[in-house]
Amino acid sequence: MLEALKEELVQLHQELPRNNLVAWTSGNVSVRDPESNLVVIKPSGVRFPELTAERMVVVDINGRFVEGEYKPSSDTASHCYIYRHLPDVCGVVHTHSRYATAFATHGRSIPCITTAMGDEFGGDIPCGGFALIGGEEIGQVVVETLRGSRSPACLLQSHGVFAVGASAAKAVKAAVMTEDNAAIAWASFALGTPLPIAPADIDKLYDRYQNVYGQ
Ligand SMILES: [Zn+2]
Repeated sequence: MLEALKEELVQLHQELPRNNLVAWTSGNVSVRDPESNLVVIKPSGVRFPELTAERMVVVDINGRFVEGEYKPSSDTASHCYIYRHLPDVCGVVHTHSRYATAFATHGRSIPCITTAMGDEFGGDIPCGGFALIGGEEIGQVVVETLRGSRSPACLLQSHGVFAVGASAAKAVKAAVMTEDNAAIAWASFALGTPLPIAPADIDKLYDRYQNVYGQ
């Protein structure tokens, strides 16, 4: 079932260690099939090099087990909550990537201080409040935080990053760009106080990149 999506998910999971976003088994990607509303997600506690299509787990949009040999990620209920409440989202990524999580430990958003951030995020990458792992509380904080923003990613206080997209690949890109911009912001704060970009210019950057840039 959903073999092509499982294969894609194996490939996309390899991007997390390749981009230094994860340590050991932390971090996960899921994808929603818009036709069946089934969700494919990483199995719990399996290391990245050992992920295969057969080891991926299928659940329904309420998080109920459908198919697989393994238990799904402990973040499954939160991924499913996000899919139920953000209907345009078909991919969700969660990481504890280092620089972004450092901002999260202060409950601090990553400020929009580069044109690339204006392009990709249309403003700050916001930080939501604290929620415990296991149920859908994390999903609730993510949905509430993303609804107040144009950003496809947010931080969770004292925890890490959630990124979403119209596809799983777009969500992975947002997770990579979140960490890249967090590292730049970190270095920038080490040099002092970064210069702000005017909100009207951020709007122009975001509009051009989202509507004109690319092939
Ligand atoms: Zn986590």
